[in-house]
Amino acid sequence: MGAILTCKGCGATKLYPTGDPTDLFPSEHCGDCPPWICEGCGETCSAVALCSCWVQLDTLLLADVKALFGADGTFSVDPA
Ligand SMILES: [Zn+2]
Ligand SMILES: [Zn+2]
Repeated sequence: MGAILTCKGCGATKLYPTGDPTDLFPSEHCGDCPPWICEGCGETCSAVALCSCWVQLDTLLLADVKALFGADGTFSVDPA
């Protein structure tokens, strides 16, 4: 499934994966966006100073990725 990763904030389109969570789903905001007010916590948020909501999201995604690996580090995902 080839998603077109267009930022919902400024409309910038990513041409290739960059290894961050926006590879998986379109970002609300990207590095090209000016600082914005987070709808979740009301803090000022920007690409270089993400608010606490994004920190939590990153932690969550990291946990999901780790869950895909067995205890011995073998990558094992049932394709079904
Ligand atoms: Zn953007
Ligand atoms: Zn926030």
